Amino acid sequence: MEKNIAEIGIFGGSGFYKLLAGAEEIAVETPYGAPSSRIMVGSLGGKKVAFLPRHGNHHEFPPHKINYRANLWAMKSLGVQRIISPCAAGSLQKPVMPGHFVVCDQYVDRTSGRIDTFYDGPIATHVSAADPYCSELRQLAISAGKISNITVHEKGTVVVIQGPRFSSKSESKWFTSMGWEVINMTQYPEVHLAKELELCVVNISLITDYDSGLVGSVDPVSHSEVVKVFTENLSKLQTMLVKLLESIPHERSKCKCANTLAGARFT
Ligand SMILES: [Zn+2]
Repeated sequence: MEKNIAEIGIFGGSGFYKLLAGAEEIAVETPYGAPSSRIMVGSLGGKKVAFLPRHGNHHEFPPHKINYRANLWAMKSLGVQRIISPCAAGSLQKPVMPGHFVVCDQYVDRTSGRIDTFYDGPIATHVSAADPYCSELRQLAISAGKISNITVHEKGTVVVIQGPRFSSKSESKWFTSMGWEVINMTQYPEVHLAKELELCVVNISLITDYDSGLVGSVDPVSHSEVVKVFTENLSKLQTMLVKLLESIPHERSKCKCANTLAGARFT
């Protein structure tokens, strides 16, 4: 594996590349096939950063067709220790409004058929998912949002649905009744695979819409509306990302993410 090319990986699209200083494109091969695209590496916020658009450069991979294992493996192979995983998301609760950001602390996996582990044997490896996100990065992300004057919800549960379809009203009503806040199609297995590789991971959910069924007077979500709100808020996300990058210490000392596999195996 190549090392020390980048320390922080961000799953983000071409909108972010222009922020990078000294950007260079790297093709990475993995034992799991090709990642979604070449990886753009460069400097941002005083850190060596790798950007990979999870949906591909031309948005050619829908959520259920993303090679999540290749994407995470590729990041790790460049030396990345921490992952920032922003995403567009829907809201399941009225106070979580379009244009708000949520730094999620839990997920509920409602996907199916996605490959969600690096550990297919022969060594049985049971990685805890009790606390999916890095405690240190979550606090830094919340602070970065606040100093950027962004409305940030400090915790939330993201329901990850299989897609590419959106929820039925009954499904949405169920998720809302459970008290869960956010709905998305890509956090799982992205977050868990990062954890399996002992990477820190933090989510920043950019709320683009109310999910169908939440508010009777609101039209069901359409893709064009999602894109519109996402585009309007992209600059806020970029500002928050730079503040977050600036605040992340080079060494990992305040979280347990680097020791995730300790106690996960019988051997
Ligand atoms: Zn961590």
